[in-house]
Amino acid sequence: MSNLFYQTKSPRPLLDRAQGIYMWDVDGKRYIDGSSGAMVSNLGHSDPDVLAAMRAQMDKSTFGYRLHFQTESSEELARKTAALAPEGLNKVFFVSGGSEAVESTLKLARQYVLTQGQAQRYKVISRYPSYHGCTLGALAITGYAPMAAPFDPMMQRMPKIPAPRAYLDGLDADDPATGLHYANMLEAAILQEGSETVMAFVVEPVGGASTGALVPPAGYMQRIREICTQYGVLLIHDEVMTGGGRTGRFFGAEHWGTVPDLIALSKGFGSGYVPLGAMIARDDIVEAVMQNGGFIHGFTYAGNPLACAAGAAVLDQIAKRDLVGNAARVGAVLQERLEGLMQRYALIGDVRGKGLLTAFELMADRATKAPLDPALNAHARLVDIAYDNGLIIYSRRTRGGTSGDHFLVCPPLITSEAQVDEITEILDRSLAQYMA
Ligand code: PMP
Repeated sequence: MSNLFYQTKSPRPLLDRAQGIYMWDVDGKRYIDGSSGAMVSNLGHSDPDVLAAMRAQMDKSTFGYRLHFQTESSEELARKTAALAPEGLNKVFFVSGGSEAVESTLKLARQYVLTQGQAQRYKVISRYPSYHGCTLGALAITGYAPMAAPFDPMMQRMPKIPAPRAYLDGLDADDPATGLHYANMLEAAILQEGSETVMAFVVEPVGGASTGALVPPAGYMQRIREICTQYGVLLIHDEVMTGGGRTGRFFGAEHWGTVPDLIALSKGFGSGYVPLGAMIARDDIVEAVMQNGGFIHGFTYAGNPLACAAGAAVLDQIAKRDLVGNAARVGAVLQERLEGLMQRYALIGDVRGKGLLTAFELMADRATKAPLDPALNAHARLVDIAYDNGLIIYSRRTRGGTSGDHFLVCPPLITSEAQVDEITEILDRSLAQYMA
């Protein structure tokens, strides 16, 4: 009997070891890590260069409290992170995960508006569906009812606008009018809330767990930027899942060339080697806050030397091996293979994504986009079948947590085309078994 309590409904085997895109349980069964955990292990498992960098750091020091010491590894990782970030965003604040990164953007935004004499700005508009984390602040802006509902009395739920889901609304995602249609919902919400009360808007450049790799329609990200600038609303990009190269660019928003005011980063940033995340902020925002008493926020383990040494080694490997380029190339092949499966299985209603942030959605009717009966539990059943066949994929309810079944197929960025074929073959077999 285990003393742990996590959410896993069906007990999973004990993990023994992992290498590259493969993992083995203690019985010697091999699994393909087809979702990089939860879109985390971008570099694959047990990368010798990252392990060597971690060992070297461990031999020197594993912890130095950030208020007692500067550390070389945190300075180095901050420098490398800022170099990858858009121009004007050079200030980095380390944390230990995605929720902490998002929470930090909200706290810095609030302290910044206070320095600007705008104490009445506190509302954070986000989207429905969305996922931004499980701490109470991040949950207040998360558009996923089943996770937020029990905690409603304990937090101030923030306003939400619909996330663009052109495929469900029968709109053409390539038509710039569609992007405008959804982006203008932000303007309407700002005006309805009272623009003088709105502090920030938070968006995942490509939808993650909640929508399943949903790419925004043409013009959406650009128009969102314009609206935020027009109303003095800070734009926060939640790149916790999209950042670190997963979409075929280091930051997901690079696909649209839009620059936010604040960025939350995690998952692939530590690539599963250490708990690591970061907030990246516009220089003048940080300067204003630091000149007015400093940032009233921080986590004890943040910026510890071991996590930062691993993070710096991860960034080095991503650059050295052109893993961002590989994500774009191999992601295109994976999407093509999934489209091939879609031609053979009527059950697959949609295939989507960018780079190796790739998903497919099962539907009862591809033409009407009707979801499967939630009682069928397709999202859990297909995952279990694939798991038995040695492939790990990640599924969620697509339609705000109550119905719909999407599956994220997001192997590490080191995945080869031959390994994509291996993944496709197991998926094919698993879908056939699901249908049987
Ligand atoms: N934001 C996004 C976009 C995420 O995908 C996640 C995790 N799924 C989080 C925030 C929260 O990250 P963590 O679980 O590391 O706290």
